Amino acid sequence: MAASPSTPGFRTGSLPALDFSARLSRRAQTMTASAIREILKVTQRPDVISFAGGLPAPELFPLEEIRAATGTVLDRYGPAALQYSTTEGHPPLREWIAGRHGIPAANVQIMTGSQQGLDLLGKVLIEEGDRVLVEAPTYLGALQSFQPYLPRYAQIPTDEGGIDVDALDEVLRGEPAKLLYAVPNFQNPTGRTLSLERRRRLVELTAQAGVLVIEDDPYGELRFSGEPLPSLYELGLALHGDVERNHVIYCSSFSKTLVPGLRDAWVEAASPIIRKLIQVKQGADLHTPTLNQMLITELLPLLPRQIETVRRVYGERAAHMLGQMAEHFPASVTYTRPQGGMFLWVTLPEGVNTTELLPSAVERGVAYVPGSPFFALGGGENTMRLSYSSARPEQISRGMEALGETFREALG
Ligand code: PMP
Repeated sequence: MAASPSTPGFRTGSLPALDFSARLSRRAQTMTASAIREILKVTQRPDVISFAGGLPAPELFPLEEIRAATGTVLDRYGPAALQYSTTEGHPPLREWIAGRHGIPAANVQIMTGSQQGLDLLGKVLIEEGDRVLVEAPTYLGALQSFQPYLPRYAQIPTDEGGIDVDALDEVLRGEPAKLLYAVPNFQNPTGRTLSLERRRRLVELTAQAGVLVIEDDPYGELRFSGEPLPSLYELGLALHGDVERNHVIYCSSFSKTLVPGLRDAWVEAASPIIRKLIQVKQGADLHTPTLNQMLITELLPLLPRQIETVRRVYGERAAHMLGQMAEHFPASVTYTRPQGGMFLWVTLPEGVNTTELLPSAVERGVAYVPGSPFFALGGGENTMRLSYSSARPEQISRGMEALGETFREALG
C-alpha cells in the first residue's frame, strides 16, 4: 500500500507555501494566455455564430476513407503501426513530400503539426535578443512559438500585396536580423497573398542580407481563384541552385488539406538545420505518431479530390461572406478579398476599437477575433479577423447582418 500523508511521523501543515510563480522560468513568465483561446471560450455558446476560430470545415473530413485506411494500415504493418518509429518520420511520407519540390527526402522532417515546426525552429534558431522580422499583422501562433526564445521583433508593414518589400529593404539595411517569418499564401490572419514581384524581391533581399526566411505555407493548396504562385522556397532553390544553400525554410501541413487532428506536418530545410531539428524533436516527442503518419500516407491518393472539394466549398463561403459584407457593412468599413485559405480581414475607421466592440457583437449573436493580438509590437486596434471556413451560408448571412448592425451603432 502506498504511504498516505497521514502516515505517522509524516509532518503535515507546518511547511512554508511554495511561491510557484516565482519558480517559473523567465521564458515561461514572458508567455501570456492566447487572446484567441480566451475569446473562443466566450463564443462556445450555442446562440453565438462564431467567425473567430480558424477551424477547417468538419463536414468535409473524409471520415469513411480514414476508417478504411486505419484497417488497411493495421493489416499491412501490424504492431509496427503502433510501435516507436524514427524521429525523421515515415520514409514513404517523407519521399512524397520531398517529391513536391524535387528535393532529397533527407531534407524533410515530419512534425507533429507545423506548430511544432515553428516551436522547434524557434528553439534551434533564436538566441535571446535575436532580431526576428514578422509581418504586421502575423500569425499569432508563430509569435507564441517564438516568444519563449526571447527574440526582439521588428514589424514589417503589409498592404494588399502582402509584405511591403521597400520597407523590408529599409529594415534589412538597419540592425542585423536573424530571420524573417512570413505566410505568403492567404495569410492568417489577413487572407492576403504576396505578389510574385514581391516574392522575388523578398528572396533576393534576404539572401543578400544573409537573413533566414521561415515560409509558413499551410494554406497554399487552398487557392479558389487566381493563378498559383511559386513558393519562396522554390524561388530560393532557383536562386541558389542547391537545396543545401537555400536560405528559405519551408513549413507546411496536412491540417488544412486533410484533417488537423492527426497532427501531421513537415519542415523542408538545408541539412544542418534538419540535423538540429531531429535532435530537438527527440527531446520534444521522439517522433510524430507512427499510425498517424501511415494513415496520412495511405490517404495521399485521395488528396487531389479532397483539396478540390475544400477549395470549392471555401470559395463559395468566401464569396457569400463578401456578398453579405457588401450588403450589410457601412461604406467606411473595408476588407480583404482572399483568393484562397480560410480568413479575411476587416478594417474599421481609425478610432474604433474592435476589442471593446466585441461584447456588443456577442450580444447580437456574432463573434470575431480582434486584430491587435496579431501585431507583434501592437497596432491594428481597429481591425478584426473573420473566418469563413466552417460557417454555413445561413450563418454567414445572419452573422454579417449582425456585424453590420454592430458597426453602424459604433460608428453612430
Ligand atoms: N501556421 C499557420 C499560418 C496557421 O494558420 C496554422 C493553423 N492555425 C499553423 C501554422 C498550425 O497548423 P498545424 O495544424 O499544422 O499545427
